Amino acid sequence: MKIPYGRQDINQEDIDAVIKVLKSDFLTQGPEILNFEKNIASKVGAKYASAVCNATSALHLALAALDIKKGDLVWTSSTSFVASSNCALYLGADVDFVDIDSDTFNMTPKSLQSKIQEYLDSGKTLPKAIIPVHMAGQSCQMKEISEIVKPHNIKIIEDASHAIGGKYRDQMVGSCEYSDMAVFSFHPVKIVTTAEGGMITTNNEEWYRKIMDLRTHGITRDPNKLNRTNMGSWYYEQLELGYNYRITDMQAALGNSQLNRLDDFIKRRHQIAEKYDKGINSKFIKTPIRLEETYSAFHLYIIQLNENCTQSHTEAYNYLRENGVLVNLHYYPIHMQPYYQNLGFKEGLCPNSEAYYKKSISIPMFPTIKEEEIEYVIEKINSIH
Ligand SMILES: *Cc1c(COP(=O)(O)O)cnc(C)c1O
Repeated sequence: MKIPYGRQDINQEDIDAVIKVLKSDFLTQGPEILNFEKNIASKVGAKYASAVCNATSALHLALAALDIKKGDLVWTSSTSFVASSNCALYLGADVDFVDIDSDTFNMTPKSLQSKIQEYLDSGKTLPKAIIPVHMAGQSCQMKEISEIVKPHNIKIIEDASHAIGGKYRDQMVGSCEYSDMAVFSFHPVKIVTTAEGGMITTNNEEWYRKIMDLRTHGITRDPNKLNRTNMGSWYYEQLELGYNYRITDMQAALGNSQLNRLDDFIKRRHQIAEKYDKGINSKFIKTPIRLEETYSAFHLYIIQLNENCTQSHTEAYNYLRENGVLVNLHYYPIHMQPYYQNLGFKEGLCPNSEAYYKKSISIPMFPTIKEEEIEYVIEKINSIH
């Protein structure tokens, strides 16, 4: 038996949707992209959505829309994929990391508040933006976080790469009720896939327009923005240094088809989580907790080894993999990566992220996992000692 930690679910409708585009006039820059954007915006309850080629470029453009540049500072969580902080470095800005909470694995109001206090006490300038990461699909406590940063005029970009379909205080993650923008990833291990793909949602028209321009080289055909007039209908102008961060219509069609099953995906993930909650009854293992005001998208189900466990983290990890339970680890703290260590980040910066890494394991979580596979995973986990 070989059970991966995550896997896409592609059905015949998904395949047909992609083939239909392949036979159409537009492989890219066509109508499916616009449909995908409309569908996501309406699903999550945001005014605007911009589809791009992956979540890494989405994070890059979100920060660019806020005019983050050299000399500015961005904070994120060290327990995340490196893209959450690389995006600030692309723009020449500096980054720093807010520690996570040991129970939710998220940046919390408390850890954010204490980081702000630390900066104020030492006379350092606060960040222009923060990027809270909804780890494993469970939303950060955005209401409190937004109340904390408001007086300091700090912008918020949610890294919701794990969290499409999740809810916070009865609203869909991505509605931007308590943030400025939110970013989703559609990589195959995530909840909804377009192979590679990403999306930025916002309620701010100015940022939306800026993102749309930067997505295509900083080029515009909007008559209101052009410097020169009467140049002919072929004419466009480059007004800024942008990128080619476009998604294709094949991918957008796949995304549209997948979105039809988003609610089913999340329901199924919760079913699996509940089976794990009940079945994993070892005193050596801690299962993940959920906050009352959140409905997780359950991108990941992360277990942790308790201190009384006699097997080491590596032993338990290898034991599961050798038995075909292809577990994974999300994440080695970003500030511990060699690239970040070379920038001057030191061990000890985020004690909770560092401790989290030494005891956590992501176990199989994907909609098509079979019942006997769930049972098998539970049995193997319960035999860790
Ligand atoms: C996957 C992921 C990203 C990057 O997504 P891509 O679409 O692969 O660029 C960013 N942040 C987090 C938290 C992720 O899990």
